[in-house]
Amino acid sequence: MDAQVIVVGGGPAGASTAWHLARAGVDVLVLERARFPRDKPCAEYLSPQASRILANMGALEPCERSGAAHLAGMIVRAPNGSRIQGDYAASHGFTGFRDRGLALPRPVLDAILLDRSRAAGARVQEGVRVSDVVRDARGAVRGVRVQDALGSAREIRACVVVGADGLRSVVSRRLGLGHTARAPRRIALVCHYRGVDGITSYGEMHVERDGYVGLADVGGGVTNVAMVLPARAVRDAAAHPAQLFDRWLGARPHLAPRFVQAERTSPVRAVGPFARHARRATMAGAALVGDAADFFDPFTGEGIFAALRGGELLAPAVLDSLGAATPGAARRALARYDTARRHAFGGKWRVERLVGLATAYPMLMNRVARTLARRKELADLLVGVAGDFVPPREVLSIRYLAQLLLF
Ligand SMILES: Cc1cc2nc3c(=O)[nH]c(=O)nc-3n(C[C@H](O)[C@H](O)[C@H](O)COP(=O)(O)OP(=O)(O)OC[C@H]3O[C@@H](n4cnc5c(N)ncnc54)[C@H](O)[C@@H]3O)c2cc1C
Repeated sequence: MDAQVIVVGGGPAGASTAWHLARAGVDVLVLERARFPRDKPCAEYLSPQASRILANMGALEPCERSGAAHLAGMIVRAPNGSRIQGDYAASHGFTGFRDRGLALPRPVLDAILLDRSRAAGARVQEGVRVSDVVRDARGAVRGVRVQDALGSAREIRACVVVGADGLRSVVSRRLGLGHTARAPRRIALVCHYRGVDGITSYGEMHVERDGYVGLADVGGGVTNVAMVLPARAVRDAAAHPAQLFDRWLGARPHLAPRFVQAERTSPVRAVGPFARHARRATMAGAALVGDAADFFDPFTGEGIFAALRGGELLAPAVLDSLGAATPGAARRALARYDTARRHAFGGKWRVERLVGLATAYPMLMNRVARTLARRKELADLLVGVAGDFVPPREVLSIRYLAQLLLF
């Protein structure tokens, strides 16, 4: 064996998995296609509860030192102009690891996280692309096939392979575990600006009839602008993302004036469609984590938390699997991660889908927004769920949903 565990992908999910395993004394090899720092199209916001895992990994202090912005909550504008404000510090009785979210550029965040996994003892090889998984005669995964920068191929073997290789995960595809959802089919256009007018310490979401756009301070006077549009409306997105972006923004009278003095400081990058889900995230000798396992929509902005938390949930199952006496016991140990994921994320998956439904139907969104604009305590609860510190059951209860829709 070349390592006990191979982690494919060194983004937040791979770095967290590698950190948790290396800390427990496991020989981990991270194989990363890119060379860091690398960019990743993202709105670059981290929920208050993500800071708990960052602190645990020793990554919070370097993130703060890099100049990360602090976010006090979220402001959502509905298509009818209703304005909802939800604060992380609220009187509902739930408190997170801290009462603010963080926002910082992904090249900075991801490099810090990968460095933390190195510091914990993980071996990291950058510029190495995994092209396939290797299986034994019984079908159990026993390693990966890789191509280095010069194009030469070789096999690397391990007891467990973790697919942390993001939305287009090659590990998930080769194992037949994931599938792209038919709906919602959306694409995103993401870029940075300097000098956007009226940016505060609240993340902003502007929901329109034909998509939504998020604005947030990511530190250093830079604003992240992430636009999410139905894929059918944007067939030319890949070829001309900047024109499409400018056209859409220019047609919003409440937003366009805020960009008149602003300067775009990065290319507009297109990504999507992104809704995908793995029915299960484990099989003999392999597991998926982060976007490789599932991602729904950026609206509730928890992909980074889910990636970090996924690594935290997966590590004990991998450890048990490595220590198991028989192949069957090893497979059952890994499968406990599937149960842990459902337990940790099941409620949030339901909330994400309800929010996704509301953003796709403007009349529903307007109705919900009118209520939330009047009832701040309900908005605070919803923002707390998105912030990963209020239990999803608080907003999935019949009582909460009835208040939203009937009043
Ligand atoms: C438009 C948009 C906005 C978003 N905004 C937010 C937000 O504000 N907050 C939030 O929390 N989440 C947000 N997300 C989600 C978030 O970006 C992801 O959930 C998060 O990046 C998942 O981390 P990951 O480690 O699973 O995958 P990634 O960050 O994609 O990392 C995967 C890594 O695997 C590597 N890799 C891929 N293939 C291979 C291969 N074959 N061999 C080796 N290496 C490989 C890649 O180079 C990459 O480094 C957003 C997503 C989108 C699309």
